[in-house]
Amino acid sequence: EITGKRSKRYLLCTENIILKKERHMWIEANLINELEENKFEMYYQPQFGLESNNITGFESLIRWNTEKYGFISPAEFIPIAESTGHIIPLGNWIFSTVCKQMSEWNKLYGTNYSIAINISPAQLNHYGQYVDMLDDILIKYGILPEQLHFEITETSFLHLSDQIVPLLEKIKNKGIHIALDDFGTGYSSVLYLRDLPINIIKIDRVFVKELTINERDKKIIKTLIELARSLRIQVVAEGIEDEVTLHHLKSLGCHSAQGYLLGKPMESVAAEKLLTENLKN
Ligand code: C2E
Ligand code: MG
Ligand code: MG
Ligand code: MG
Repeated sequence: EITGKRSKRYLLCTENIILKKERHMWIEANLINELEENKFEMYYQPQFGLESNNITGFESLIRWNTEKYGFISPAEFIPIAESTGHIIPLGNWIFSTVCKQMSEWNKLYGTNYSIAINISPAQLNHYGQYVDMLDDILIKYGILPEQLHFEITETSFLHLSDQIVPLLEKIKNKGIHIALDDFGTGYSSVLYLRDLPINIIKIDRVFVKELTINERDKKIIKTLIELARSLRIQVVAEGIEDEVTLHHLKSLGCHSAQGYLLGKPMESVAAEKLLTENLKN
């Protein structure tokens, strides 16, 4: 009996590993064809200014709807794209798709909003040599540098080379905002605040989600906001799902917020609708 159960569990377990491996291999093998076949799409999640109570812009988030597995999360395929090098063509596609979107919206609605793009560390290393071309790209699309935010995850700095700080400085000097994503999930967060040229920190959802019930999280966020403010760094809180948390963040002096409560990531037509409504206010 018992051994029977055990071996059954063992089989299920190996089956799972095999399925996972298959899925991983499928992603590796098909990402580029799917990119060429236009199977990826950019979604946009609104970001709200807590003083103005208005949309300040969006974070762009990639979506991949496959015939084989349905939607595959970027949290699953981005790391695979990074390890295979596919992130370079994929990142190019993301960048140009977002820039094209902005150039359309700028013509219709003006330039008083921003879009954040998530940038992988491998992309930064690769683009290091092309930074001077950024100005040309912005001019081509009619985008102001201030409208663009580059989001770089805190943990990604562990793998970055020495050239990355001067590179980010160059990008920041052009006027593009640098946001440190998932702030607080790494182990030397405060050192990053000291050493990296950044305009924005995004406080990770792990701190935000229990803000109202966990006194320690509340103290951490309060101190982070004070520290950031004194360094003239803007604070965006991620993953707000309820009114009480939003209210707390506001009273702690947090600049902006993002989360399901305020708006889920949405297709560009829906985001555009928000943008037009926002401009009427
Ligand atoms: P991230 O940049 O930290 O993005 C925030 C994630 O939290 C997104 O998941 C978003 O949909 C989700 N989120 C937003 N509000 C809430 C909320 O209120 N509650 C909860 N539970 N979740 C919320 P998503 O879109 O699945 O992306 C996951 C990660 O994949 C991103 O984390 C980012 O690291 C990466 N990623 C997504 N799009 C791109 C991209 O275009 N390029 C690159 N390089 N990475 C991307
Ligand atoms: Mg992000
Ligand atoms: Mg984040
Ligand atoms: Mg994240």
